[in-house]
Amino acid sequence: MSLERILAASVAPGRRPRPGFAQNRPVNDQLDAPDLALVQRAVDLVRQRGNGSANTVAAAARATDGRVVAGMNVYHFTGGPCAELVVLGMAASEGLERLEIIVAVADGERGILAPCGRCRQILFDYQPGIRVIVTSGGAARAVGITDLLPNANRWSAASGTLPAEYPA
Ligand SMILES: [Zn+2]
Repeated sequence: MSLERILAASVAPGRRPRPGFAQNRPVNDQLDAPDLALVQRAVDLVRQRGNGSANTVAAAARATDGRVVAGMNVYHFTGGPCAELVVLGMAASEGLERLEIIVAVADGERGILAPCGRCRQILFDYQPGIRVIVTSGGAARAVGITDLLPNANRWSAASGTLPAEYPA
């Protein structure tokens, strides 16, 4: 299924955000227009800059203030950073502390990529409120990072690793 068809299936007509919901975000996992624009930003970047070797994935993230950062992975067998991690560094360089949503798109029209295990843990620890756009059931959906990493330990520089059910 083409990426365009997946995106067309990702916003159901007639669904409205619940009145008063924080930041007027949808209450379900469907994408809204800014989310689709974020996916398109990553699609455009990977179509323009993906080269099939060192740079094969583009990611784009939106901060809580609406600003968007986008970047490419740097593949290397020693462990070059995924596009999501490049975007985290770019967000830091722009002074964006809280990201609300992120998506990664692969070159060669492979479509939306869910984050790898390493990126899931890093997003979980550094951006625990972030939603991640993934493909599910033929549509793109936004799911919480906590949903992508159930029962995960939580790490921070201050506390080290804490078990998932460590008392708050
Ligand atoms: Zn990754």
